[in-house]
Amino acid sequence: MSHPETLGVHAGREDFAELSVHAPPLDLSTTYPVRDLGVGTASFDALVGGKANAENPIYARLHNPTVARFEQALAQLEGTTDAVAFGSGMAALSACLLAAGQRGQHVLAVRPVYGTSDHLLDSGLLGIPVRWVKPSEIAEAVDADTALVMIETPANPTLELIDIAAVVKAAGDVPVLVDSTFATPVLQQPVKQGARLVMHSATKFLGGHGDVIAGVVACDDDWAKSLRQVRAATGGLLHPLGAYLLHRGLPTLALRVEKAQANAIEIATRLAAHPLVAKVSYPGLREDANARLVGTQMRGPGSLMAFEVLGGHAAAAQVMAAVRLATPAVSLGSVDTLIQHPAGLTHRTLDAGTQAECGITPGMLRLSVGIEHVEDIWNDLRDALQASVGAKVA
Ligand SMILES: *Cc1c(COP(=O)(O)O)cnc(C)c1O
Repeated sequence: MSHPETLGVHAGREDFAELSVHAPPLDLSTTYPVRDLGVGTASFDALVGGKANAENPIYARLHNPTVARFEQALAQLEGTTDAVAFGSGMAALSACLLAAGQRGQHVLAVRPVYGTSDHLLDSGLLGIPVRWVKPSEIAEAVDADTALVMIETPANPTLELIDIAAVVKAAGDVPVLVDSTFATPVLQQPVKQGARLVMHSATKFLGGHGDVIAGVVACDDDWAKSLRQVRAATGGLLHPLGAYLLHRGLPTLALRVEKAQANAIEIATRLAAHPLVAKVSYPGLREDANARLVGTQMRGPGSLMAFEVLGGHAAAAQVMAAVRLATPAVSLGSVDTLIQHPAGLTHRTLDAGTQAECGITPGMLRLSVGIEHVEDIWNDLRDALQASVGAKVA
């Protein structure tokens, strides 16, 4: 039982037979009775110290069984021994950076990353400074004070792929964190390439239905312990209802990812041939610079792409205004098709120079292809592109 399709359906459900249930119980308790103070004290110490569970859960900031089932499922999907869930992807990254701050003096990170991740790292808000590097500069930049190397692959929003195994090699003893949100464990398992931490904005594909904000980090026991200590102290919790919805979505994760991907391959091919489209960045196109890591590091190219419309910012805005089936909105990985403008929205906090350096252009749109019928998605995009023709060139 190691295929993602099977794990998605069955993982995190190991206690069902004992409980005699068929669906995960949703436990909304904030506190748990302590009838035996000795057991309570030992449980408190264990959980505050970062253990995954204890005889008594004590308090829901320390442990919740509904959240723990989702964590166990995710760990199995990623091939790690543990996972720790948070109230958002940003809370998950914050916990990683706070834990890293206990282990070293700075973080090395590769651009581009999700806009708010860039902002969090670059601002030094959590007390650990970042040094931005290119993948080829990591080996030289790593020193005894490096706490963590962070990469995002596929990268948001340009769909750049980074060779995880090469980064792990260059990082030496320093742990590598991969934001694998765009890939999901269905398409990529970074620990197989040697990554120590795998982060997801579970808000995206893992949730998949646009109704949960959540984050999760899959990792080994040592890091999980640190992350749970941070979570218990800072309170960046995932609410059990969110965990319940995430766990409910996992059985269809592989189906959703594969259907959206099949649609995306077709849509990317048609966009690349469209006269109003200047460029499509999608690792599933044979001519794409990143295609070599598809079929090796990634099982498939996924369902996100960036494309540049002729006519720059004004034409891109016009396409967003003209779509009828797709939702013009940030976020991604939902069952429905979403389209957004990185320069104006998700990557707004990057200054113009950094945007340009990351390849984020005024005419770029990011498309998250959904699971609707491919012809309906295409008709909508084709009509919206046509509507952009009149836009004034910016
Ligand atoms: C959305 C996103 C995040 C942030 O996650 P939230 O759940 O919105 O906090 C981080 N990384 C990537 C790649 C994302 O797409």
